[in-house]
Amino acid sequence: MIIKKAAFVQSKTNYKDCPLPDKCEFAFIGRSNVGKSSLINMLTGQKGLAKTSAKPGKTQLINHFIINEKWYLVDLPGYGWAKVSKESKAKWEKMVKDYLTLRENLFCVFVLIDNRLEPQVIDIEFINWLGENGIPFSLIFTKYDKLSKTQANNNLLKFENEMSKTWQELPPRFVTSSETGFGKEEVLNYLDSMVKN
Ligand code: GDP
Repeated sequence: MIIKKAAFVQSKTNYKDCPLPDKCEFAFIGRSNVGKSSLINMLTGQKGLAKTSAKPGKTQLINHFIINEKWYLVDLPGYGWAKVSKESKAKWEKMVKDYLTLRENLFCVFVLIDNRLEPQVIDIEFINWLGENGIPFSLIFTKYDKLSKTQANNNLLKFENEMSKTWQELPPRFVTSSETGFGKEEVLNYLDSMVKN
């Protein structure tokens, strides 16, 4: 797929205020600082589309972008900020989980995993929650350029092993770098196959 056009549509706090569910939709989520904004900008080829390096405490919103006038890309607020109040966490949980379970045109959630780190409990718990709720998802391992190939592949294997403890089958997985563009084509081709069907 070639992304010819990508435009911001709106930011909302409630899934009920999202655009009409008349186009297929793909959401991106992950721990704060995982590289989500950078990845969205890399995939769409627009540097400033998603805001990078958001600060904790920033309003958490469901951000819609329209791609090629055909499908929605959704930038969801990240989880795992170290210094957020219980109240903010509860707000995030309600907003994101309502969106994920009730948004009828949601085709797939891309869960971003920082490839530099060993498997993180917070990621595994989130993935397991998606599974328990029957929400289709794929994994994107980010920042592939940051480690040596051996270290990066080791972390990937560790994550797969961790998941295999609870999952019989693993979801589609991609490895990317927003610095080098590694993995861009694979993710876009995968999106293309889902948009076409
Ligand atoms: P977000 O909070 O998940 O949206 O993360 P950002 O996209 O703002 O990225 C967080 C930090 O990681 C920034 O300093 C980015 O420049 C850096 N970063 C993101 N993706 C990559 C990547 O693929 N490679 C490298 N080397 N740095 C990255």
